[in-house]
Amino acid sequence: MLNYLVVPESFQHFPVAGFFTTKQADHDLAVLARHAGVAEHSVYLPIQKHTDTVQIVETVLPPVVADAVLTHRTGLMIGVQTADCVPILVCDPLRRVAGAIHAGWRGTAAGILLKTIGHCSDHYSCNPSDLYLAIGPSICGDCYEVGSEVAEGVQQMTGRGDYLFERQGKPHVDLRRANRQQALAAGIPADNIWISPECTFCLPDKYHSYRYAKGFAGRQYSFIALRD
Ligand SMILES: [Zn+2]
Repeated sequence: MLNYLVVPESFQHFPVAGFFTTKQADHDLAVLARHAGVAEHSVYLPIQKHTDTVQIVETVLPPVVADAVLTHRTGLMIGVQTADCVPILVCDPLRRVAGAIHAGWRGTAAGILLKTIGHCSDHYSCNPSDLYLAIGPSICGDCYEVGSEVAEGVQQMTGRGDYLFERQGKPHVDLRRANRQQALAAGIPADNIWISPECTFCLPDKYHSYRYAKGFAGRQYSFIALRD
């Protein structure tokens, strides 16, 4: 086990390698691929643009614009990059499907998690009750003061919930809890959702944080690969 990885406990029982990196894994894609048991050239990262585009990845091709990726192929490691935004790993151990999602406020407001769950059902006949989620290190609600555009956008997609609250009269959004609420509404059982307690902004020595670095941040990887 590489000691700079955050591994959701729930995923350790499944035939997948799923993990979130910290600052220490910046350029070690080859090491991460080996850790997941895949070839270095079998790593896929989409071009992220805060879209709600979900890409089905069956083979490694030149990257296209997408903010969620899904596969049912073993030997492929797919992922996303984040620094405050919410990374979400998806696994259906029954249908053997794995995915990774980049959910910033725009993706959350656009329902990218819900769209990904929809793709799991449409393309792989997954039942939402069989899906497991791991919500990785990202900015916490206390650290994420937002404008009304963000608060309203997220609430329109998510519905009301305790993910949206005020501190000193300013709206704050906990995007992790917003995505959890969307997942529950889509039929994913609460017991199937793992959430990292760590905040990228609260722990700037451990994680890249876009807000902490005022825009000049690196990125964490969130990767998943199906195993035989
Ligand atoms: Zn925080």
